[in-house]
Amino acid sequence: LTGRMMDFPLTVTHILERARTFFPNVEVVSRRADRSLDRSTYGQVYARGLRLVAALRKLGVRPGDRIATLSWNHAEHLEAYLTIPAMGAVMHTLNLRLAPSEIGYIANHAQDRVLLVDKSLLPLYAKFKADVPSLEHVIVVDGKEDGLLEYEKLLAEADPAGVTLPALDENSAAMLCYTSGTTGSPKGVLYSHRSTVLHALVACMPDNLGIRGDDTVLPVVPMFHAAAWGLPYEAAISGAKIVFPGPHLDPESLLDLIERERVTFAGGVPTIWLGILDRLDREKGRWDLSALRRMIVGGAAVPASMIDGFAKRHGIEIIHAWGMTEMNPLGTVARVKEQLQREGDDEQRLGYRATQGFAVPFVEQRHVSDEGDILPWDNTSMGELEVRGPWVASSYYADEGKDRFTKDGWFKTGDVVRICGEGYVRICDRSKDVIKSGGEWISSVALENALMAHPSVLEAAVFAANHPKWSERPVAAIVFREGMRASHEELAAHLASSFPKYWLPDAYVELAQIPRTSTGKFLKTKLRADYAGIFEK
Ligand code: ADP
Repeated sequence: LTGRMMDFPLTVTHILERARTFFPNVEVVSRRADRSLDRSTYGQVYARGLRLVAALRKLGVRPGDRIATLSWNHAEHLEAYLTIPAMGAVMHTLNLRLAPSEIGYIANHAQDRVLLVDKSLLPLYAKFKADVPSLEHVIVVDGKEDGLLEYEKLLAEADPAGVTLPALDENSAAMLCYTSGTTGSPKGVLYSHRSTVLHALVACMPDNLGIRGDDTVLPVVPMFHAAAWGLPYEAAISGAKIVFPGPHLDPESLLDLIERERVTFAGGVPTIWLGILDRLDREKGRWDLSALRRMIVGGAAVPASMIDGFAKRHGIEIIHAWGMTEMNPLGTVARVKEQLQREGDDEQRLGYRATQGFAVPFVEQRHVSDEGDILPWDNTSMGELEVRGPWVASSYYADEGKDRFTKDGWFKTGDVVRICGEGYVRICDRSKDVIKSGGEWISSVALENALMAHPSVLEAAVFAANHPKWSERPVAAIVFREGMRASHEELAAHLASSFPKYWLPDAYVELAQIPRTSTGKFLKTKLRADYAGIFEK
Protein backbone atom coordinates (compact mmCIF):
# COMPACT_ATOMS: atom_id res chain seq x y z
CA LEU A 1 0.00 0.00 0.00
CA THR A 2 1.47 3.33 -1.02
CA GLY A 3 1.29 6.31 1.31
CA ARG A 4 -0.77 9.20 0.08
CA MET A 5 1.42 12.13 0.82
CA MET A 6 2.75 14.64 -1.68
CA ASP A 7 5.94 13.87 -3.49
CA PHE A 8 7.33 17.34 -2.77
CA PRO A 9 10.93 17.85 -3.94
CA LEU A 10 13.60 18.76 -1.39
CA THR A 11 15.45 21.62 -3.07
CA VAL A 12 17.72 24.55 -2.27
CA THR A 13 15.10 26.66 -4.05
CA HIS A 14 12.78 26.14 -1.11
CA ILE A 15 15.46 27.33 1.33
CA LEU A 16 15.96 30.45 -0.78
CA GLU A 17 12.22 31.18 -1.05
CA ARG A 18 11.70 30.52 2.64
CA ALA A 19 14.43 32.97 3.66
CA ARG A 20 12.95 35.63 1.46
CA THR A 21 9.32 35.03 2.49
CA PHE A 22 9.72 34.75 6.25
CA PHE A 23 13.07 36.34 7.09
CA PRO A 24 13.60 39.15 4.55
CA ASN A 25 14.94 41.56 7.17
CA VAL A 26 17.33 39.18 8.89
CA GLU A 27 20.86 40.46 8.49
CA VAL A 28 23.72 39.09 6.44
CA VAL A 29 26.96 40.81 7.50
CA SER A 30 30.23 40.63 5.58
CA ARG A 31 33.67 41.77 6.59
CA ARG A 32 35.34 43.20 3.49
CA ALA A 33 38.97 43.02 2.43
CA ASP A 34 39.48 46.58 3.78
CA ARG A 35 38.06 45.35 7.14
CA SER A 36 34.86 47.41 6.86
CA LEU A 37 31.54 45.69 7.65
CA ASP A 38 28.91 45.52 4.97
CA ARG A 39 25.27 44.84 5.87
CA SER A 40 22.75 43.05 3.69
CA THR A 41 19.60 40.96 4.38
CA TYR A 42 18.08 37.71 3.13
CA GLY A 43 15.62 39.90 1.21
CA GLN A 44 18.48 41.61 -0.59
CA VAL A 45 20.30 38.32 -1.13
CA TYR A 46 17.15 37.04 -2.83
CA ALA A 47 16.62 40.12 -4.98
CA ARG A 48 20.25 40.25 -6.04
CA GLY A 49 20.30 36.48 -6.50
CA LEU A 50 17.47 36.70 -9.03
CA ARG A 51 19.46 39.32 -10.90
CA LEU A 52 22.42 36.94 -10.85
CA VAL A 53 20.21 34.24 -12.36
CA ALA A 54 19.06 36.65 -15.10
CA ALA A 55 22.65 37.68 -15.80
CA LEU A 56 23.96 34.10 -15.94
CA ARG A 57 21.13 33.04 -18.26
CA LYS A 58 22.00 35.94 -20.54
CA LEU A 59 25.56 34.63 -20.63
CA GLY A 60 24.17 31.33 -21.83
CA VAL A 61 24.28 29.29 -18.62
CA ARG A 62 22.08 26.21 -18.84
CA PRO A 63 20.90 23.72 -16.23
CA GLY A 64 23.72 21.40 -15.20
CA ASP A 65 26.48 23.85 -16.13
CA ARG A 66 29.22 24.25 -13.53
CA ILE A 67 29.69 27.79 -12.20
CA ALA A 68 32.86 28.15 -10.17
CA THR A 69 33.59 30.52 -7.31
CA LEU A 70 37.02 31.58 -6.09
CA SER A 71 35.97 33.60 -3.08
CA TRP A 72 36.23 34.21 0.62
CA ASN A 73 33.12 34.01 2.81
CA HIS A 74 30.82 36.96 2.09
CA ALA A 75 27.29 37.90 1.06
CA GLU A 76 27.93 37.52 -2.68
CA HIS A 77 29.15 34.00 -2.06
CA LEU A 78 25.86 33.35 -0.24
CA GLU A 79 23.95 34.78 -3.22
CA ALA A 80 25.75 32.23 -5.39
CA TYR A 81 25.21 29.40 -2.86
CA LEU A 82 21.46 29.94 -2.87
CA THR A 83 20.66 30.94 -6.43
CA ILE A 84 23.04 29.01 -8.69
CA PRO A 85 21.56 25.67 -7.53
CA ALA A 86 18.06 27.18 -7.67
CA MET A 87 18.49 27.96 -11.37
CA GLY A 88 19.44 24.33 -11.96
CA ALA A 89 23.13 25.04 -12.45
CA VAL A 90 25.89 23.58 -10.26
CA MET A 91 27.78 25.71 -7.78
CA HIS A 92 31.44 24.68 -7.81
CA THR A 93 33.55 26.09 -4.97
CA LEU A 94 37.28 26.29 -5.74
CA ASN A 95 39.69 26.07 -2.81
CA LEU A 96 41.83 29.21 -2.97
CA ARG A 97 44.48 27.72 -0.69
CA LEU A 98 45.48 25.02 -3.16
CA ALA A 99 48.43 25.44 -5.48
CA PRO A 100 47.45 27.21 -8.74
CA SER A 101 48.18 24.05 -10.74
CA GLU A 102 45.77 22.07 -8.54
CA ILE A 103 43.03 24.69 -8.87
CA GLY A 104 43.53 24.66 -12.63
CA TYR A 105 43.35 20.87 -12.70
CA ILE A 106 40.12 20.89 -10.68
CA ALA A 107 38.39 23.67 -12.64
CA ASN A 108 39.30 21.97 -15.89
CA HIS A 109 38.24 18.56 -14.60
CA ALA A 110 34.86 20.04 -13.67
CA GLN A 111 34.65 21.83 -17.05
CA ASP A 112 33.57 25.04 -15.32
CA ARG A 113 32.01 27.51 -17.79
CA VAL A 114 31.83 30.62 -15.62
CA LEU A 115 34.01 31.82 -12.75
CA LEU A 116 33.04 34.31 -10.04
CA VAL A 117 36.26 35.61 -8.49
CA ASP A 118 37.14 38.07 -5.72
CA LYS A 119 39.24 40.97 -6.94
CA SER A 120 41.92 40.17 -4.39
CA LEU A 121 42.24 36.69 -5.89
CA LEU A 122 42.78 37.78 -9.49
CA PRO A 123 46.55 37.25 -9.23
CA LEU A 124 45.82 33.65 -8.23
CA TYR A 125 43.39 33.25 -11.13
CA ALA A 126 46.05 34.57 -13.51
CA LYS A 127 48.28 31.67 -12.51
CA PHE A 128 45.86 28.93 -13.54
CA LYS A 129 43.64 30.48 -16.21
CA ALA A 130 45.65 28.96 -19.06
CA ASP A 131 44.80 25.50 -17.70
CA VAL A 132 41.05 26.00 -17.95
CA PRO A 133 39.99 26.45 -21.58
CA SER A 134 36.39 25.63 -20.65
CA LEU A 135 36.00 28.99 -18.85
CA GLU A 136 33.96 31.29 -21.09
CA HIS A 137 33.20 34.11 -18.66
CA VAL A 138 35.03 35.49 -15.67
CA ILE A 139 33.14 37.81 -13.35
CA VAL A 140 34.93 39.97 -10.79
CA VAL A 141 32.81 40.01 -7.65
CA ASP A 142 33.95 43.10 -5.80
CA GLY A 143 35.63 45.42 -8.25
CA LYS A 144 36.62 45.78 -11.86
CA GLU A 145 39.37 44.56 -14.08
CA ASP A 146 40.02 45.27 -17.75
CA GLY A 147 38.66 42.60 -20.02
CA LEU A 148 36.62 40.82 -17.32
CA LEU A 149 32.96 41.11 -16.41
CA GLU A 150 31.89 43.03 -13.33
CA TYR A 151 29.45 41.42 -10.88
CA GLU A 152 27.78 44.64 -9.75
CA LYS A 153 27.41 45.91 -13.30
CA LEU A 154 25.92 42.62 -14.49
CA LEU A 155 23.44 42.69 -11.61
CA ALA A 156 22.52 46.33 -12.23
CA GLU A 157 21.88 45.65 -15.92
CA ALA A 158 20.00 42.38 -15.40
CA ASP A 159 16.23 42.27 -15.69
CA PRO A 160 14.90 40.11 -12.88
CA ALA A 161 11.25 40.76 -13.82
CA GLY A 162 10.87 37.77 -16.06
CA VAL A 163 12.97 35.35 -14.02
CA THR A 164 11.22 32.23 -12.82
CA LEU A 165 13.06 29.48 -11.00
CA PRO A 166 12.57 26.04 -12.53
CA ALA A 167 10.86 23.12 -10.80
CA LEU A 168 13.79 20.86 -10.07
CA ASP A 169 14.18 17.17 -9.47
CA GLU A 170 15.47 16.79 -5.91
CA ASN A 171 18.13 14.40 -7.15
CA SER A 172 19.60 16.91 -9.57
CA ALA A 173 23.07 18.24 -8.76
CA ALA A 174 23.33 21.39 -6.63
CA MET A 175 26.99 21.72 -5.68
CA LEU A 176 30.35 20.27 -6.63
CA CYS A 177 33.13 20.06 -4.03
CA TYR A 178 36.51 18.47 -4.58
CA THR A 179 38.42 16.56 -1.96
CA SER A 180 41.63 18.38 -1.22
CA GLY A 181 43.79 15.69 -2.72
CA THR A 182 45.70 14.86 0.44
CA THR A 183 45.04 11.25 -0.59
CA GLY A 184 45.68 11.02 -4.35
CA SER A 185 44.46 13.43 -7.02
CA PRO A 186 41.43 15.58 -6.08
CA LYS A 187 38.09 13.93 -6.72
CA GLY A 188 34.75 15.66 -7.24
CA VAL A 189 31.79 15.07 -4.94
CA LEU A 190 28.50 16.10 -6.47
CA TYR A 191 25.92 17.02 -3.84
CA SER A 192 22.27 16.82 -4.84
CA HIS A 193 19.51 19.21 -3.78
CA ARG A 194 18.06 16.39 -1.72
CA SER A 195 21.31 15.60 0.07
CA THR A 196 21.89 19.28 0.82
CA VAL A 197 18.41 19.77 2.26
CA LEU A 198 18.33 16.60 4.36
CA HIS A 199 21.80 17.38 5.65
CA ALA A 200 20.75 20.90 6.66
CA LEU A 201 17.63 19.66 8.45
CA VAL A 202 19.48 17.04 10.46
CA ALA A 203 22.36 19.41 11.22
CA CYS A 204 19.85 21.87 12.72
CA MET A 205 18.48 19.30 15.19
CA PRO A 206 19.10 20.42 18.78
CA ASP A 207 21.36 17.47 19.54
CA ASN A 208 23.49 18.10 16.49
CA LEU A 209 24.44 21.71 15.71
CA GLY A 210 21.19 23.05 17.09
CA ILE A 211 21.02 26.18 14.94
CA ARG A 212 17.87 28.23 15.56
CA GLY A 213 16.23 31.44 14.46
CA ASP A 214 17.67 33.54 17.28
CA ASP A 215 21.24 32.55 16.43
CA THR A 216 23.90 34.68 14.82
CA VAL A 217 26.01 32.23 12.87
CA LEU A 218 29.68 32.80 12.02
CA PRO A 219 31.03 30.32 9.47
CA VAL A 220 34.78 30.53 9.96
CA VAL A 221 35.06 27.34 7.94
CA PRO A 222 35.56 28.57 4.38
CA MET A 223 32.71 28.31 1.91
CA PHE A 224 35.19 26.52 -0.37
CA HIS A 225 35.55 23.72 2.18
CA ALA A 226 32.75 21.11 2.11
CA ALA A 227 29.96 23.69 1.63
CA ALA A 228 31.06 25.46 4.84
CA TRP A 229 29.56 22.42 6.58
CA GLY A 230 26.16 23.49 5.28
CA LEU A 231 26.14 26.47 7.70
CA PRO A 232 24.87 28.95 5.06
CA TYR A 233 21.91 26.66 4.29
CA GLU A 234 21.30 25.88 7.96
CA ALA A 235 21.24 29.59 8.83
CA ALA A 236 18.98 30.47 5.89
CA ILE A 237 16.48 27.68 6.58
CA SER A 238 16.27 28.73 10.25
CA GLY A 239 16.20 32.46 9.56
CA ALA A 240 19.36 33.00 11.61
CA LYS A 241 21.52 36.07 11.13
CA ILE A 242 24.77 35.21 9.42
CA VAL A 243 28.15 36.91 9.74
CA PHE A 244 30.92 36.30 7.22
CA PRO A 245 34.55 36.95 8.17
CA GLY A 246 35.85 37.59 4.61
CA PRO A 247 39.61 37.03 4.38
CA HIS A 248 40.28 38.02 8.01
CA LEU A 249 40.68 34.75 9.88
CA ASP A 250 43.28 35.72 12.50
CA PRO A 251 42.22 35.45 16.18
CA GLU A 252 42.07 39.23 16.70
CA SER A 253 39.71 39.81 13.75
CA LEU A 254 37.49 36.87 14.65
CA LEU A 255 37.24 37.85 18.31
CA ASP A 256 36.39 41.39 17.28
CA LEU A 257 33.67 40.12 14.95
CA ILE A 258 32.20 37.77 17.57
CA GLU A 259 32.05 40.58 20.11
CA ARG A 260 30.80 43.29 17.74
CA GLU A 261 28.06 41.26 16.04
CA ARG A 262 27.10 39.29 19.17
CA VAL A 263 27.80 35.96 17.45
CA THR A 264 26.07 33.03 19.19
CA PHE A 265 27.29 30.15 17.03
CA ALA A 266 30.58 29.66 15.21
CA GLY A 267 32.14 26.81 13.27
CA GLY A 268 35.69 26.03 12.17
CA VAL A 269 38.66 23.66 12.35
CA PRO A 270 40.58 23.17 15.64
CA THR A 271 43.69 25.09 14.59
CA ILE A 272 41.61 28.30 14.44
CA TRP A 273 40.17 27.79 17.93
CA LEU A 274 43.52 26.80 19.45
CA GLY A 275 44.78 30.26 18.52
CA ILE A 276 41.64 31.89 19.89
CA LEU A 277 41.76 29.98 23.18
CA ASP A 278 45.36 31.07 23.65
CA ARG A 279 44.35 34.71 23.09
CA LEU A 280 41.44 34.48 25.48
CA ASP A 281 43.65 32.97 28.17
CA ARG A 282 46.31 35.64 27.78
CA GLU A 283 43.93 38.58 27.52
CA LYS A 284 41.45 37.83 30.29
CA GLY A 285 38.62 40.32 30.34
CA ARG A 286 39.53 41.98 27.05
CA TRP A 287 36.85 40.30 24.97
CA ASP A 288 33.12 40.18 25.65
CA LEU A 289 31.99 36.85 24.26
CA SER A 290 28.90 36.63 26.45
CA ALA A 291 26.62 36.06 23.45
CA LEU A 292 28.59 33.06 22.15
CA ARG A 293 26.88 29.87 23.24
CA ARG A 294 28.28 27.15 21.01
CA MET A 295 31.03 26.36 18.61
CA ILE A 296 31.09 23.44 16.24
CA VAL A 297 34.62 22.21 15.77
CA GLY A 298 35.70 19.43 13.45
CA GLY A 299 37.66 18.61 10.33
CA ALA A 300 40.49 17.36 12.56
CA ALA A 301 40.56 15.93 16.07
CA VAL A 302 39.71 18.35 18.86
CA PRO A 303 41.94 17.90 21.93
CA ALA A 304 39.99 17.30 25.14
CA SER A 305 42.05 20.06 26.77
CA MET A 306 40.59 22.54 24.29
CA ILE A 307 36.99 21.49 24.95
CA ASP A 308 37.65 21.72 28.67
CA GLY A 309 39.53 25.02 28.43
CA PHE A 310 36.73 26.78 26.55
CA ALA A 311 34.06 25.39 28.87
CA LYS A 312 35.75 25.92 32.23
CA ARG A 313 37.67 29.11 31.64
CA HIS A 314 35.33 30.90 29.22
CA GLY A 315 31.90 29.25 29.51
CA ILE A 316 31.77 28.31 25.83
CA GLU A 317 30.48 24.92 24.69
CA ILE A 318 32.37 23.09 21.97
CA ILE A 319 30.60 20.47 19.96
CA HIS A 320 33.04 18.07 18.38
CA ALA A 321 31.92 16.65 15.05
CA TRP A 322 33.42 14.51 12.34
CA GLY A 323 32.69 14.68 8.66
CA MET A 324 34.09 14.55 5.17
CA THR A 325 33.71 16.32 1.86
CA GLU A 326 32.22 13.03 0.65
CA MET A 327 29.34 13.45 3.09
CA ASN A 328 28.01 16.98 2.66
CA PRO A 329 29.95 16.85 5.24
CA LEU A 330 28.39 15.94 8.61
CA GLY A 331 28.76 12.34 9.82
CA THR A 332 28.99 12.11 13.61
CA VAL A 333 28.47 14.46 16.54
CA ALA A 334 29.87 13.97 20.05
CA ARG A 335 26.88 14.70 22.22
CA VAL A 336 26.77 12.97 25.57
CA LYS A 337 23.72 10.72 25.78
CA GLU A 338 21.37 11.61 28.59
CA GLN A 339 22.10 8.53 30.65
CA LEU A 340 25.86 8.96 30.35
CA GLN A 341 25.41 12.59 31.30
CA ARG A 342 23.56 11.57 34.44
CA GLU A 343 25.71 8.65 35.47
CA GLY A 344 29.18 9.81 34.53
CA ASP A 345 31.56 12.18 36.26
CA ASP A 346 33.13 15.26 34.66
CA GLU A 347 36.07 13.34 33.31
CA GLN A 348 33.93 10.66 31.69
CA ARG A 349 31.67 13.28 30.13
CA LEU A 350 34.69 15.11 28.76
CA GLY A 351 35.97 11.78 27.44
CA TYR A 352 32.81 11.33 25.36
CA ARG A 353 32.83 14.93 24.15
CA ALA A 354 36.37 14.47 22.90
CA THR A 355 35.47 11.42 20.78
CA GLN A 356 34.20 12.03 17.26
CA GLY A 357 30.75 11.05 18.53
CA PHE A 358 28.20 8.74 16.96
CA ALA A 359 26.37 8.90 13.66
CA VAL A 360 23.66 11.53 13.20
CA PRO A 361 20.21 10.32 12.07
CA PHE A 362 20.24 8.59 8.68
CA VAL A 363 23.98 8.07 8.69
CA GLU A 364 25.08 4.53 9.52
CA GLN A 365 28.53 3.55 10.71
CA ARG A 366 30.61 0.39 10.96
CA HIS A 367 34.31 -0.43 11.04
CA VAL A 368 36.04 -3.15 9.13
CA SER A 369 39.38 -4.97 9.48
CA ASP A 370 42.04 -5.13 6.78
CA GLU A 371 40.70 -8.60 5.98
CA GLY A 372 37.21 -7.20 5.41
CA ASP A 373 35.60 -8.45 8.65
CA ILE A 374 33.07 -6.22 10.37
CA LEU A 375 34.53 -5.49 13.79
CA PRO A 376 32.85 -5.49 17.22
CA TRP A 377 32.15 -2.23 19.06
CA ASP A 378 34.47 -3.13 21.93
CA ASN A 379 36.53 0.08 22.09
CA THR A 380 39.63 -1.94 21.22
CA SER A 381 39.37 -3.35 17.70
CA MET A 382 40.79 -0.89 15.20
CA GLY A 383 39.56 -0.80 11.63
CA GLU A 384 38.52 1.44 8.76
CA LEU A 385 35.35 3.42 9.33
CA GLU A 386 32.65 2.93 6.69
CA VAL A 387 29.45 4.95 6.37
CA ARG A 388 26.28 5.10 4.34
CA GLY A 389 23.32 7.43 4.20
CA PRO A 390 21.37 9.89 2.03
CA TRP A 391 24.16 12.50 2.07
CA VAL A 392 27.06 10.11 1.54
CA ALA A 393 28.56 10.03 -1.98
CA SER A 394 27.58 6.97 -3.99
CA SER A 395 30.42 7.55 -6.46
CA TYR A 396 32.80 10.35 -7.41
CA TYR A 397 32.14 12.76 -10.24
CA ALA A 398 33.72 11.19 -13.35
CA ASP A 399 33.75 7.83 -11.57
CA GLU A 400 37.23 7.96 -10.12
CA GLY A 401 38.17 6.27 -6.85
CA LYS A 402 35.85 3.29 -7.34
CA ASP A 403 37.79 1.36 -4.70
CA ARG A 404 36.36 3.63 -2.00
CA PHE A 405 32.88 2.15 -2.44
CA THR A 406 32.08 -1.35 -1.20
CA LYS A 407 29.98 -3.88 -3.11
CA ASP A 408 27.34 -3.80 -0.38
CA GLY A 409 26.83 -0.05 -0.58
CA TRP A 410 29.14 1.59 1.98
CA PHE A 411 31.72 4.36 1.57
CA LYS A 412 35.23 3.67 2.89
CA THR A 413 36.33 6.76 4.79
CA GLY A 414 40.05 6.03 5.07
CA ASP A 415 39.85 6.79 8.81
CA VAL A 416 41.10 4.19 11.25
CA VAL A 417 38.86 4.05 14.31
CA ARG A 418 37.80 2.25 17.45
CA ILE A 419 34.12 2.21 18.43
CA CYS A 420 32.88 1.72 21.99
CA GLY A 421 29.80 -0.19 23.07
CA GLU A 422 27.77 3.03 23.16
CA GLY A 423 28.63 3.66 19.52
CA TYR A 424 31.09 6.53 20.03
CA VAL A 425 33.74 6.58 17.32
CA ARG A 426 37.34 7.40 18.21
CA ILE A 427 39.52 8.29 15.26
CA CYS A 428 43.00 6.92 15.79
CA ASP A 429 44.35 8.22 12.51
CA ARG A 430 43.78 8.72 8.87
CA SER A 431 45.02 5.44 7.43
CA LYS A 432 48.04 7.15 5.88
CA ASP A 433 48.98 8.83 9.18
CA VAL A 434 48.96 5.70 11.32
CA ILE A 435 52.43 5.01 12.71
CA LYS A 436 53.50 1.40 12.27
CA SER A 437 56.21 0.59 14.75
CA GLY A 438 57.49 -2.97 14.92
CA GLY A 439 54.19 -4.35 13.65
CA GLU A 440 52.10 -2.37 16.16
CA TRP A 441 49.90 0.62 15.39
CA ILE A 442 50.43 3.86 17.25
CA SER A 443 47.74 6.54 17.14
CA SER A 444 49.25 9.91 16.34
CA VAL A 445 45.97 11.63 17.21
CA ALA A 446 45.92 10.28 20.77
CA LEU A 447 49.52 11.38 21.36
CA GLU A 448 49.09 14.89 20.00
CA ASN A 449 45.90 15.45 21.97
CA ALA A 450 47.72 14.46 25.14
CA LEU A 451 50.64 16.74 24.29
CA MET A 452 48.29 19.67 23.70
CA ALA A 453 46.99 19.18 27.25
CA HIS A 454 50.44 20.16 28.58
CA PRO A 455 50.30 23.76 29.82
CA SER A 456 53.33 24.89 27.81
CA VAL A 457 52.21 23.38 24.50
CA LEU A 458 50.19 25.42 22.02
CA GLU A 459 50.18 22.96 19.12
CA ALA A 460 51.46 19.43 18.63
CA ALA A 461 51.50 17.11 15.64
CA VAL A 462 52.81 13.59 15.83
CA PHE A 463 53.98 11.81 12.71
CA ALA A 464 56.01 8.82 11.58
CA ALA A 465 59.64 8.88 10.55
CA ASN A 466 61.38 5.90 8.99
CA HIS A 467 63.37 3.83 11.43
CA PRO A 468 66.01 1.21 10.55
CA LYS A 469 64.85 -1.21 13.22
CA TRP A 470 61.16 -0.51 13.88
CA SER A 471 60.20 0.53 10.33
CA GLU A 472 58.58 3.70 11.72
CA ARG A 473 58.81 5.61 14.99
CA PRO A 474 56.78 8.60 16.22
CA VAL A 475 58.19 12.10 16.17
CA ALA A 476 56.41 15.01 17.86
CA ALA A 477 56.50 18.51 16.38
CA ILE A 478 55.77 21.06 19.10
CA VAL A 479 54.88 24.73 19.12
CA PHE A 480 55.25 26.21 22.61
CA ARG A 481 53.08 28.96 24.03
CA GLU A 482 54.60 32.41 24.04
CA GLY A 483 57.25 32.65 26.73
CA MET A 484 56.88 29.01 27.75
CA ARG A 485 58.92 25.90 27.20
CA ALA A 486 59.21 22.28 28.37
CA SER A 487 62.11 19.86 28.04
CA HIS A 488 61.76 16.63 26.06
CA GLU A 489 62.09 14.69 29.29
CA GLU A 490 59.21 16.65 30.79
CA LEU A 491 57.00 16.03 27.74
CA ALA A 492 57.87 12.34 27.77
CA ALA A 493 57.02 12.15 31.47
CA HIS A 494 53.72 13.90 30.75
CA LEU A 495 52.82 11.20 28.21
CA ALA A 496 54.20 8.25 30.14
CA SER A 497 51.22 7.96 32.48
CA SER A 498 48.72 7.53 29.62
CA PHE A 499 50.50 5.45 27.02
CA PRO A 500 52.58 2.29 26.70
CA LYS A 501 56.28 3.02 26.59
CA TYR A 502 56.71 2.05 22.94
CA TRP A 503 54.16 4.75 21.96
CA LEU A 504 56.30 7.61 23.28
CA PRO A 505 57.91 9.75 20.57
CA ASP A 506 61.59 9.06 19.97
CA ALA A 507 62.23 12.66 19.01
CA TYR A 508 60.73 16.09 19.61
CA VAL A 509 61.23 18.96 17.20
CA GLU A 510 60.37 22.53 18.07
CA LEU A 511 58.66 24.64 15.38
CA ALA A 512 57.33 28.18 15.14
CA GLN A 513 54.16 26.85 13.48
CA ILE A 514 52.92 23.44 12.37
CA PRO A 515 52.51 23.47 8.59
CA ARG A 516 48.83 23.56 7.57
CA THR A 517 46.83 21.94 4.76
CA SER A 518 44.66 24.00 2.43
CA THR A 519 41.79 23.52 4.86
CA GLY A 520 43.74 24.52 7.97
CA LYS A 521 44.61 21.07 9.33
CA PHE A 522 48.08 19.96 10.36
CA LEU A 523 49.99 18.99 7.22
CA LYS A 524 51.61 15.76 8.29
CA THR A 525 52.80 14.77 4.83
CA LYS A 526 55.14 17.77 4.94
CA LEU A 527 56.39 16.89 8.42
CA ARG A 528 56.95 13.32 7.30
CA ALA A 529 58.92 14.50 4.28
CA ASP A 530 60.93 17.10 6.23
CA TYR A 531 61.99 14.67 8.94
CA ALA A 532 62.02 11.40 6.97
CA GLY A 533 65.68 10.71 7.73
CA ILE A 534 65.79 11.84 11.35
CA PHE A 535 66.56 8.31 12.65
CA GLU A 536 68.73 7.20 9.80
CA LYS A 537 71.91 9.09 10.45
P1 ADP B 1 40.72 17.18 3.62
O1 ADP B 1 41.09 16.92 5.06
O2 ADP B 1 41.43 16.24 2.72
O3 ADP B 1 40.80 18.59 3.27
P2 ADP B 1 37.97 16.69 4.30
O4 ADP B 1 37.67 17.98 4.90
O5 ADP B 1 36.93 16.00 3.55
O6 ADP B 1 39.21 16.80 3.37
O7 ADP B 1 38.55 15.79 5.46
C1 ADP B 1 37.90 14.68 5.97
C2 ADP B 1 38.83 14.03 6.95
O8 ADP B 1 39.17 14.91 8.00
C3 ADP B 1 38.27 12.82 7.62
O9 ADP B 1 38.39 11.68 6.81
C4 ADP B 1 39.12 12.74 8.88
O10 ADP B 1 40.35 12.11 8.62
C5 ADP B 1 39.38 14.18 9.19
N1 ADP B 1 38.44 14.63 10.21
C6 ADP B 1 37.30 15.32 10.05
N2 ADP B 1 36.72 15.59 11.24
C7 ADP B 1 37.51 15.05 12.18
C8 ADP B 1 37.45 14.97 13.61
N3 ADP B 1 36.49 15.52 14.31
N4 ADP B 1 38.45 14.30 14.23
C9 ADP B 1 39.46 13.74 13.55
N5 ADP B 1 39.57 13.79 12.22
C10 ADP B 1 38.61 14.43 11.54
